[in-house]
Amino acid sequence: EVAMLREQLEEIRKEAATDPLTLLANRRAFDEAIERIRAEVAEVGGDFCLAFLDIDHFKKFNDTWGHQTGDQVLRYVAGVIRQRVAPPRFAARFGGEEFALILPGESLSETAFLVEQILKDVSVASVRRRSTNDNLGVITLSAGIACYRPGDTVHDLIERADASLYNAKRRGRNRLAVEGDG
Ligand code: GH3
Ligand code: MG
Ligand code: MG
Repeated sequence: EVAMLREQLEEIRKEAATDPLTLLANRRAFDEAIERIRAEVAEVGGDFCLAFLDIDHFKKFNDTWGHQTGDQVLRYVAGVIRQRVAPPRFAARFGGEEFALILPGESLSETAFLVEQILKDVSVASVRRRSTNDNLGVITLSAGIACYRPGDTVHDLIERADASLYNAKRRGRNRLAVEGDG
């Protein structure tokens, strides 16, 4: 009895932390994880970086093929990310068509290497629309990275990663920008 209740409770917890479309962690779980990791690093030291990855011109998939195909693209990108992210790495759907990676113990250059791999993985596969087998063309991401500095709040870190992502978009998309190279 008690074991069954425990199992159900665990199931409910998992659901509350998961984005149902992509099966990645959701925003709520992201907020919890990044605050926990920030506090840990602030106390014991070490590296930790945050990366944002945003699908380029995602709106065009919805407009051209419909919302269902847009959803398929989101699941495809999430699947590629999942293949490169195992604990202690943490991947979440941050919002709409934007993903966040929290990378404890990884430097800026290690994070950049990982993100470049993901960008490449996403863009080299050819993706077909499930319902009609139409070729969806090349899917690309833009990404921004920021790494923790002593005294940073989560808000500071998110702001810098977001500014980097904005720079990647501004420079033509399908690329990574790191903080400082505005
Ligand atoms: P950019 O290259 O600048 O990122 O352009 P974009 O088109 O990717 O960005 P924009 O913010 O203009 O559009 C994002 C779109 O994502 C708008 C919204 O309707 C769509 N979207 C958000 N969540 C979902 C979802 O769960 N499913 C689908 N199919 N679309 C979604
Ligand atoms: Mg986008
Ligand atoms: Mg976006």
